[in-house]
Amino acid sequence: MGKTLTAYGIALEQLALAAEELKLEPGIHEMLKSPKRSLTVSVSIRMDNGSIGVFSGCRVQHMDSRGPFKGGIRYHPNVNLDEVTALSMWMTWKCAVVDIPYGGAKGGICCNPKEMSKPELERLTRRYTSMIFDIIGPYRDVPAPDVYTDAQTMAWIMDTFGQMKGYSVPECVTGKPISIGGSEGRAEATSLGVDICAREAAKKMNMKLKGASVSVQGYGNVGWNAAKIMHDWGAKIVAVSDSLGGISSKEGLNPYKVYEHKQKTGSVVNFKGADNVTNEEVLKAKCDILIPAALENSITKNNADEIKARVVAEGANGPTTPDADKVLCEKEVMLVPDILANAGGVTASYYEWVQNLEREHWSLDEVNGKLEAKMCKAFNDVYLAANKRKCEMRTAALTLGVGRVAEAIKTLGLWP
Ligand code: NAD
Repeated sequence: MGKTLTAYGIALEQLALAAEELKLEPGIHEMLKSPKRSLTVSVSIRMDNGSIGVFSGCRVQHMDSRGPFKGGIRYHPNVNLDEVTALSMWMTWKCAVVDIPYGGAKGGICCNPKEMSKPELERLTRRYTSMIFDIIGPYRDVPAPDVYTDAQTMAWIMDTFGQMKGYSVPECVTGKPISIGGSEGRAEATSLGVDICAREAAKKMNMKLKGASVSVQGYGNVGWNAAKIMHDWGAKIVAVSDSLGGISSKEGLNPYKVYEHKQKTGSVVNFKGADNVTNEEVLKAKCDILIPAALENSITKNNADEIKARVVAEGANGPTTPDADKVLCEKEVMLVPDILANAGGVTASYYEWVQNLEREHWSLDEVNGKLEAKMCKAFNDVYLAANKRKCEMRTAALTLGVGRVAEAIKTLGLWP
């Protein structure tokens, strides 16, 4: 009937589906519906013009039955508690799907980073860190980058946390610059994971990756690196977009040149030799593989029928609505869901955390080798679960993730 669900509404609907599939004990289903802890904060900073800026932020910790909370921090004008709660829940399932010892969390600040100076962003990050200080830390909750936050943001968090503790704690945050304990390969890890999943899905569809056409929505950290790796593997990038619009080329785009152009002009649009198209046209482009790598709710019941890709690998979190899932399933599109496809980021974050705790630094080959093995194993686990349960990949991944988390809750028991 086309009811519009919020991100949290979608997450609850997905959880209900998995609970039914697993015949989950009602009490455990109830426990998993709500985050264990949500902290909302009002972050006040001095703006460059001398005025006071007040921003609302939050940190939501969903479930830590399998290990410390883990999840990104997002800066965006649409950040709200509902969205961050959904994202924290997806993090819980994601860590379980790739079988790393973390629970799920997410944080965010409602702000427009594009309109803020670097010093303002630094003051915002440091003040926010001080306000969530009591609930984060290497054995409690380890933040990482997400939309419009990056390695520099993580460096400010690490410094603020260390200054407040009185000693340096590199393992309190991941996605840091390499110079202060970041991991080789972390910046590209989410995208490498997405592309590995797309490659494995293509194999199952008897599709050759070399020469396959790929369309990418979003040209930030995840989107641009996914396009770059696909191009390096011999696929043809036929369309890409960012928040200002899209471009397409039947002959194929060079993602490195598009990235340079975006660095210079602020957008992918008006790239020489390509046609300017709308964001919507990038999703509907004639291609073999579609990688949505922007924000939630991009593929909806209004456009799902016009998606031409045979494989959709979700780089973004929550880019496809449940209505659209059904349409894609009927069209026999192989959709690799977010909690599997983009889990490469948190997996490399886990490797970074382990390296920090052990005061080690692994080579790029070592990180990528471990990541490749982890992602292939997770893809196959989900693919086998889908065949066994006779369901699509999203339900299979959710069932696998929720099942592992529920098992941990049962094993730990309830205290007191
Ligand atoms: P980012 O800020 O680096 O990039 C976001 C990109 O999306 C930008 O290019 C922006 O212009 C574009 N965008 C925004 N609205 C758009 C629209 N309507 N149409 C097309 N493009 C649009 O963020 P990111 O880190 O690349 O994250 C992208 C997605 O991937 C998010 O859903 C995030 O939660 C998810 N994700 C990120 C990581 C990570 O390691 N960074 C890990 C897992 C999942």
